[in-house]
Amino acid sequence: VTPLALGIDIGGTNTKVAVVSHSGEVAAIENFRTGSENPSALVENIRQAAARITGSNPIRGAGIAVAGFLNPARDRLSYNPNLAWLEGFPVRDAISDAVAVPAILEVDSNASTLGEYRFGGGRGSTRFLCLVSGTGLGVGVIVNGELLRFMGECVGDAGHVVAEPEGPECPCGGRGCAEAIVSERSIVANAQSGATLREVIESAREGGARAIAELDRAGRALGIAMASLAQIFFPDRIAVAGGLAEADNLILPAAEAAFRRHVNADSRAEVTVVKAALGWQATVIGAAAPLISETGATL
Ligand SMILES: [Zn+2]
Repeated sequence: VTPLALGIDIGGTNTKVAVVSHSGEVAAIENFRTGSENPSALVENIRQAAARITGSNPIRGAGIAVAGFLNPARDRLSYNPNLAWLEGFPVRDAISDAVAVPAILEVDSNASTLGEYRFGGGRGSTRFLCLVSGTGLGVGVIVNGELLRFMGECVGDAGHVVAEPEGPECPCGGRGCAEAIVSERSIVANAQSGATLREVIESAREGGARAIAELDRAGRALGIAMASLAQIFFPDRIAVAGGLAEADNLILPAAEAAFRRHVNADSRAEVTVVKAALGWQATVIGAAAPLISETGATL
């Protein structure tokens, strides 16, 4: 039987439920508001969406990605101010019970990183660093096929490395964090208040000076963050994933130039910087990835 798995992405705003094939393709997907204050309602919405999209296909498990830090047992969210109402709730087991298959839980940036590593821009990398932009800036690192975990079951708040020493204050309480410059909220606020990131990118493509300047600034901040992180993790490949990857040539050349200017010579020579290949699907694909190994990985 061809293995299929559910890939579920619980974000601060939206939740996605997908059926993912053994080759890492999304066969069906639903997207709905995460809601707030009610974990049981979220689990029920996930159950209903899963029932609609799986039909009669056999499902071997559910991979769940959630934004924020996890507890060491990886069965619940331990910290995310944007999903505080979900902290401590046994989300892995509640979803497992609801959809009647085994479930695993992962940090969303880790899931995106794993998706790209298995099926996208990270294939073949030995030391893979992935920067995932969105509401914030997530970071995942895979060394020799294994996700690094040392804080919150991921690499900590690595999106908050400093990219502009005199830069803007960050909601985290720091100053000049990469996330404070590259978050969707920040780019939109500076470039085109009230717009979406997609509209800012569109504006830049049409020559909008503020949009171009803001994306260039975000690219530089990403590159400086890459340089700082590369001195710790020594990646052979770095991918930019998430919403900002869609800006492509408006952001990646600036990111790569800043990276090469700031990183040491040895790292510079050995690293390639790429755009992630899976787009916004990376998270659901990566969430399901451990369940769809063609070598028959089991839970
Ligand atoms: Zn910060």
